[in-house]
Parts: sequence; C-alpha cells; structure tokens
Amino acid sequence: MKPVGRFAPTPSGRMHMGNLFAALLAWLSVRSRGGTLILRMEDLDTQRTKPEYADTLRRDLEWLGLYWDKEMQCQSQRDSHYEEALNILGAKGLIYPCYCSRNRLHSVAAPHLGESTFVYDGHCRNLTAGERQAMDRPPAWRLEVPDKEIVFRDRLQGLYRENLARDCGDFILRRSDGMFVYQLAVVVDDAAAGVTEVVRGRDLLSSTPRQMYLQSLLGYPTPEYGHVPLLLSADGRRLSKRDRDMDLGLLSRTMTPEEIVGRLAYWAGLQERDEATDLQSLMHRFDWNRVRREDITVITNP
Ligand code: GLU
Ligand code: ZN
Repeated sequence: MKPVGRFAPTPSGRMHMGNLFAALLAWLSVRSRGGTLILRMEDLDTQRTKPEYADTLRRDLEWLGLYWDKEMQCQSQRDSHYEEALNILGAKGLIYPCYCSRNRLHSVAAPHLGESTFVYDGHCRNLTAGERQAMDRPPAWRLEVPDKEIVFRDRLQGLYRENLARDCGDFILRRSDGMFVYQLAVVVDDAAAGVTEVVRGRDLLSSTPRQMYLQSLLGYPTPEYGHVPLLLSADGRRLSKRDRDMDLGLLSRTMTPEEIVGRLAYWAGLQERDEATDLQSLMHRFDWNRVRREDITVITNP
C-alpha cells in the first residue's frame, strides 16, 4: 500500500530550519515510495495563528519544491468533527468535567520529567453529580486513562513506552473556553485523511502514546511514526522563532532552495557535504536507515 503522509504546520510565524527539517523528511519518506502528502494547517489556537502566516507557509513550501497533493480543511474549521469524537468518548463514559483552576493544578502536581506538563491527580474524576452542579464555571473535559503500558516502535527513536496513568494522568481534550486540544484534533484529522505515517519532531514523541490511546478508543488505525531529531542552538535550546537567522525569511535572501535543501539533507545525514542538492536526487537515494537519530547543534555563535 502506498503511504499517506502529512505536513501539519502551525501557522504562527515564518517557518525556520527546524520546521523545514521535519517537513523535508516527511516529504522524502512519502515521495520515495510514491505516496501522497496532505497539508493541514494546525490553527486551533486562533490567538497565536494567522491566515497570513498560512499563506506564507504554503508559498515557502512551494518555493522549496516541497509540494503536497491535497490540503485538508484548517483545524479551526473542524470543530464539529472533534465534537463528534468527544461525544463518542462521552457515550463510553470515558470523559469527565474538570473544574480545577490553574493554581490548584500547579500546587498539587509534581513537574514531570522536567517538562512543562504535569501529571493530573484525578481530582475531578470522582465528583458527585451534586458537586458538579454546584460549580459556577464551565469545565474542561478530561479523558480517563488506564494504568497500562503503551509501547510502540518509532522508525528512528526505537521502542518507546509510557504508562499514561503514571506518566501523564487523565488529560484534557477540550479546554474550559471550548477550544479542542491538539491531541484530539491530530488524531481525528489524521484518521479522516487516511494518514498512514507521521513524521515530525522528536519533541512530540511523548504525545504519541496519548494519541495512540485515543486512536484505539475511536477505532482508528495507528499510523507509523518517525520522530526526527531536533535542531538545537549552541546552548542546547531547540530552534525557535527567536532564532531569526534560521528563519526562512532571512535565509531565502541569501540562499537558493537547492542550497537550503542541501543543508537540511546534510544535517539529516543524507549527504556528505553542505552543498546544493535537488529534491529528486535526494528522493531516489532516501533511506530511513541513513537518517541520524541524535539532535543536531546548528548554531555555534549565537
Ligand atoms: N502542528 C505541530 C507543530 O507545528 C505538529 C503536529 C504534528 O505533526 O503532529 O509542531
Ligand atoms: Zn479537576
């Protein structure tokens, strides 16, 4: 079966080399096997994202030659689909309203694995109907998670396992302001588009068990996963929009698309030298076994 992959950028600014690194590998993985690529704008967060950024993003991808076959609806247009999924989970009795304030969550939860995520203590799971009724604000909706290990083999990172109850806790699917969260949207959208492989940054590796659990509850297939290394600045930070010299707005003034693609391919371990390359020849030589697994420090003098 031909693979179906996707680009799922968040249109919150100009793309930088870190975003493009993941996009190039997603493109190569699918194109080298004659598959299909879907583009999807992840604009759930309407505060941070803008249609103008989405336009620039499309133009940047085209300029580089990273064409896609089909663009699906933006996430901001797909609330009814997320709602449907939430209702299915609700009918199974797997979600519950959570009224915890941010302060409460921060005071009870121990920071987990040095990340900014917290393991939720399940406080609202056992509220009585009366207690729920007495609450005077809209709740967030959380998914009950099992005390069970979820394991998968990532194309690059190898075996990855997580116990959702221990490592994550019941997690939010819809915020109290009504916004659906990334974890639910990505699962619903990938299934709707028939996505068979997900290639994205390693920062999302620890989201995958949550997404796999949602897929199992909703009866969706689980795609293959490839979590690619992150590009880091000299102080070990992940490249971000702050590193202006790594953003395409600036780079495209001094480099050709072939030079940018060549540099990304060099960082990925797909070619010996930092020199211009065209996508077609990279595609013909592409092999996941040659892609490096470790993060890559790309800025030496910040
Ligand atoms: N929208 C996410 C990002 O820009 C990617 C989500 C995904 O690939 O699952 O980082
Ligand atoms: Zn709560």
